[in-house]
Amino acid sequence: MKKIGIVGAGISGLVLACFLKKNKNYDISVYEKDDIYLPNSNGIQISPNALRILKKINFDLFNQKKLCKITGLSFYDYNLNAKIARMSFDYLKNDPYITLNRNELINFLINQFSLKDNIIIKEVTNINDKSIFFKNDSEEKFDTLIVADGIFSKLRPEKIQPVYSGYSALRGVFTDMIQVNDIDLWMGKNFHLVKYPIDQNKNFSFTLVNKMPFVKVVDGYDSKFKDINKNNNFYFPKFDNMTFDNIKVKIWPIFKLNKIFYGHNNIYFIGDSAHGFIPSRAQGAAQAIEDSYALYNFLIQNEFCTKKLYKFRKNRIKKIITKSENNLTIFHLNIFIFRWIRNLIIKLICSYEFLIKFVNSSIFDYKIKEDL
Ligand SMILES: Cc1cc2nc3c(=O)[nH]c(=O)nc-3n(C[C@H](O)[C@H](O)[C@H](O)COP(=O)(O)OP(=O)(O)OC[C@H]3O[C@@H](n4cnc5c(N)ncnc54)[C@H](O)[C@@H]3O)c2cc1C
Repeated sequence: MKKIGIVGAGISGLVLACFLKKNKNYDISVYEKDDIYLPNSNGIQISPNALRILKKINFDLFNQKKLCKITGLSFYDYNLNAKIARMSFDYLKNDPYITLNRNELINFLINQFSLKDNIIIKEVTNINDKSIFFKNDSEEKFDTLIVADGIFSKLRPEKIQPVYSGYSALRGVFTDMIQVNDIDLWMGKNFHLVKYPIDQNKNFSFTLVNKMPFVKVVDGYDSKFKDINKNNNFYFPKFDNMTFDNIKVKIWPIFKLNKIFYGHNNIYFIGDSAHGFIPSRAQGAAQAIEDSYALYNFLIQNEFCTKKLYKFRKNRIKKIITKSENNLTIFHLNIFIFRWIRNLIIKLICSYEFLIKFVNSSIFDYKIKEDL
């Protein structure tokens, strides 16, 4: 039995752990520094490319009341206070676009394959070719090491660094009066706001992405936004049908990695630790899931080479990064004439199903080859 050590019980670490545990040829240990069992609400979007992979690890058994199958995406121009168009997702029947609470996904992954037996709550301080070192200087040896410890990984070489994008996200979850199954996207000057349902119980997640100087978060990356009322006008645009009063808002400074890095010396990096990028195409979790599945296929074919994984994934990740950065520019346009052209193009695309399919196809239709 091969002994595999995974650092980080986020989405990438857990999805890989599920595949390896299902296979039964591996003895896996997942090291996590935080208490991942604490209840916490945070929306996450999973596009069809990632859902197809999750289905291979029993996602069909996920409680359907705890997710939302998205029926469409509505675009709004905040400055015109008007809806531009709605992109229907009706054509995504077999592999829908889903949204859910990140914690529910984490719990599902842990419970489906009894990963509680494999997760060890311990902070990793260092790694070398075959060993993981912990805070108390103890050491554990493995045949293969995988690092899935997120964008702020302390285990990468120093030249791989997260860089502040110039944007921060203000995020929260709230309960509304009616259930809707659409994503709403408001585009303003230097900001955009996304609101989507995360279950069938009228719970919604919102993310306001704002251009703003880096705010040093005092008590953690995902801390409660402190001065919400005082800063309300500055950070929160006003909406007729939505108020942010009395909602706990968390600030999430958005970082991106200066380089794609899938590892060295047979230590694999996956997910945000390999390629953290800005979230404006909602592909962070989906790419973490694709990475995990790609690496799993390498491992079962006894392909132990980080360079091969990099070669296999780099074009896909570069394309997603470009699309995410383009989206940010398009969403935040300042000049009227550019916004007018943008709105016209959005209207045109949303009017024809073949155009909707075309603009989404490179992301949604992607399938990882299993005979890499
Ligand atoms: C504002 C915002 C909105 C987003 N919205 C979406 C969305 O709608 N859809 C989507 O697909 N993606 C979204 N993302 C991105 C998504 O959250 C991440 O890309 C995805 O969760 C990456 O998963 P990961 O497992 O690689 O890393 P993480 O989720 O960061 O997990 C890393 C884990 O490693 C642990 N860890 C770290 N260091 C150590 C250590 N030294 N020892 C032990 N454990 C350690 C951490 O505690 C954590 O549990 C968003 C991101 C942002 C910033």
